Amino acid sequence: MKNKSGIIYTLNRKTTEELASILEANGITAVAYHAGLDAKLRSKRQDDFLSEDVQVIVATIAFGMGIDKPDIRFVIHYNIPKSIENYYQETGRAGRDGLEGKCVLYYSHKDVSKLEHLMRDKPLSEREVGAQLINETVAYAESGVCRRKVILSYFGEHYLEENCGNCDNCKHPKEKIEAKAEVVVALKALKELDEKFATDYVVNIVSGKLTPQVKMFRHEGLTCFGAGKGRDAHFWNSLVRQMILEGLIRKDIEEYGVLKLTDKGNDFTKKPKNFTIVLNNKFEDAVGDDEEAGEGNGEGAAADDKLFEMLKELRQKQAKKVNLVPWVIFLETSLQDMATMFPTTLQELEKCQGVSGPKARRYGKPFIELIAQYVEANNIVKPDDFVMKSVVNKSGNKVYIIQQTDKKYRWKPLPRTRDGRSRNSWRKWKPSPPVEPNSISVMRSTKCLTKLTRRKLSNTSKPAKPRPWT
Ligand SMILES: [Zn+2]
Repeated sequence: MKNKSGIIYTLNRKTTEELASILEANGITAVAYHAGLDAKLRSKRQDDFLSEDVQVIVATIAFGMGIDKPDIRFVIHYNIPKSIENYYQETGRAGRDGLEGKCVLYYSHKDVSKLEHLMRDKPLSEREVGAQLINETVAYAESGVCRRKVILSYFGEHYLEENCGNCDNCKHPKEKIEAKAEVVVALKALKELDEKFATDYVVNIVSGKLTPQVKMFRHEGLTCFGAGKGRDAHFWNSLVRQMILEGLIRKDIEEYGVLKLTDKGNDFTKKPKNFTIVLNNKFEDAVGDDEEAGEGNGEGAAADDKLFEMLKELRQKQAKKVNLVPWVIFLETSLQDMATMFPTTLQELEKCQGVSGPKARRYGKPFIELIAQYVEANNIVKPDDFVMKSVVNKSGNKVYIIQQTDKKYRWKPLPRTRDGRSRNSWRKWKPSPPVEPNSISVMRSTKCLTKLTRRKLSNTSKPAKPRPWT
């Protein structure tokens, strides 16, 4: 199962070169691909990739147009993609033969700022469109809803399955919150605001935030102002997003994302029904969490979800035995490391995050035994070296995860869905007919960076200001 083909998309040329050399240093044949290379070299690299002399191509977003390699096993977005269209098209290259196709998107607020920075010299109209596209991608990344549902809805299609079983949000479902009353609050607020404002403003109004803009419009006197004070902005943002997904409201793209009521929304006001939502993922929490983190803050960060769940169960059982709460035995982040690095000796176990020598000796035995059985039963090729050979230190962990995607997975091919089409004129590209990849997930970028390399890395990254999305 070695030598699986994959594409890694990054935002800039420099990263493609750096990443390719790190991969090379770690025994993965990889080359960079970007517009700065001369045409001859580019086509050679593309040919090498097609003929499998090169396993991984690290590219800026320009790569892959017209490429139809059926057995690309993974597509990794090392940085946030520029738009959902790009993302859909790029992930659509994975598993075109209907077999395994794994897609991972690393997300951090920092990347969002970088993208915005890249657009600073563009003309205003282009910047506005660009900003909307980025907002959609941010919303996609932060959404706690089924990824397939979000993507298809973006292209005007409805995905009706409750659980696709193949995205990180479906594999780690979150608590559902009943929000019937709040939906009514939001719908009434939209009406009172004459359907003339975008998400951010509506959220400020219902949560009662007196901003200069609110004052300017003298909206603090409206009955909807502060009508939803009991909930925070995070809740309201999540709610609005899911109201759009369910078709109660829509975003008017021609009018800068102003929210409008739909017929379905009007019906809802007259006759409210149950409406459950899940909160968006909070990515800002992940920044700088290389300290011992608490529970439940890293869903989807293990390379092997199945093993991760098994380890969690085992932890539960062991905790009961000694009458302790589970996280005292091992932190969830430690279990994630175990399900990524497959330690089968106590020494290897100690290399996992949050596992000290005494802890490994006291609680570790059943865990490494379980992992050893699992590794054996699934023919998993363990990485022979737990230390990342790194050329550029800070990219270590991502590379590690990339190495892990090279393991044996047994993916069930999914029925193919129709390809998406753009609805709106401002969306310039039409995606070539992509195939749904059979596994999609979004990971916290910063967390991944700090996770395995935290001993080497000084914590220099200050959290970028969280980007509000509309
Ligand atoms: Zn899903």
